[in-house]
Amino acid sequence: MNTVEFSSLPLKTALLENIESLGYTHLTPIQAESLPHILEGRDVIAQAKTGSGKTAAFGIGLLSRLDLSSFKVQAMVVCPTRELADQVCKEIRQLARFTQNIKVLALCGGTPFAPQRDSLQYGAHVVVGTPGRLQEHLQKQSLRPDHLKVLVLDEADRMLDMGFADIISDIISYTPNHRQTLMFSATYADPIRDMSQKFQFKPISVSVETSH
Ligand code: ADP
Ligand code: MG
Repeated sequence: MNTVEFSSLPLKTALLENIESLGYTHLTPIQAESLPHILEGRDVIAQAKTGSGKTAAFGIGLLSRLDLSSFKVQAMVVCPTRELADQVCKEIRQLARFTQNIKVLALCGGTPFAPQRDSLQYGAHVVVGTPGRLQEHLQKQSLRPDHLKVLVLDEADRMLDMGFADIISDIISYTPNHRQTLMFSATYADPIRDMSQKFQFKPISVSVETSH
């Protein structure tokens, strides 16, 4: 039984109120394992089943790091599919629902490039997207991640299965070396460990076998 409450974490009051307004009171097991380390700024690789609350683990982590007075991109989430990216975008916006002037932008393929480029010109705090489109924005310099603090690879196992390894490497090459890198996966096979070794610094590895 997991009994860690969100109120016991070192979170800003406004973020805590947002979380509690969603009816979240206690951390799910994977959140309890990962979030304290994430909030300390550590690199984390987390493995847990689908539906265990991984999105909120990194969503809360990255929201707690944002400086809203700057409209530079400070967090980037890479997802395997558009559907997932849209879902993640929605959850992060929910977690920030009462926060004024926070911009969370979806950058997915299959939709026109130009409106995304135009949106990026006005700045954003968080971008969530699919590998190909994120890479395109980076190559064309419509997305400049020089102030990136947190990089999230969501469903990393699925992204590798879908053949995104090289694109992800390329995306990461644009980001600052001192970033925090968070990896989430439903499985923990060798390719995931290799990816962690390549892109993470002294990562903390957490794993939860059952969903909440
Ligand atoms: P995963 O990425 O691990 O597959 P999700 O992040 O999509 O799982 O979370 C599954 C569901 O759990 C979502 O509907 C989310 O709103 C809900 N959830 C996440 N964290 C909590 C929590 N601490 N308390 C209650 N519900 C939560
Ligand atoms: Mg997920």
